[in-house]
Amino acid sequence: MTELKCISCGKSLNKEGIIFKCPSCGKKIIRCNHCRKIGIKYKCECGFEGP
Ligand SMILES: [Zn+2]
Ligand SMILES: [Zn+2]
Repeated sequence: MTELKCISCGKSLNKEGIIFKCPSCGKKIIRCNHCRKIGIKYKCECGFEGP
């Protein structure tokens, strides 16, 4: 089983959260509902930042 961790807060995700692809490099980005809700920015390894 792959461990899913929120890219913003680093907490592991259970069932709440979203996984999507970085618009820039296509790498998986994982965010928990909490970070999404309060609008924490994410930053991909490639340097792409999003709301
Ligand atoms: Zn989070
Ligand atoms: Zn990226």
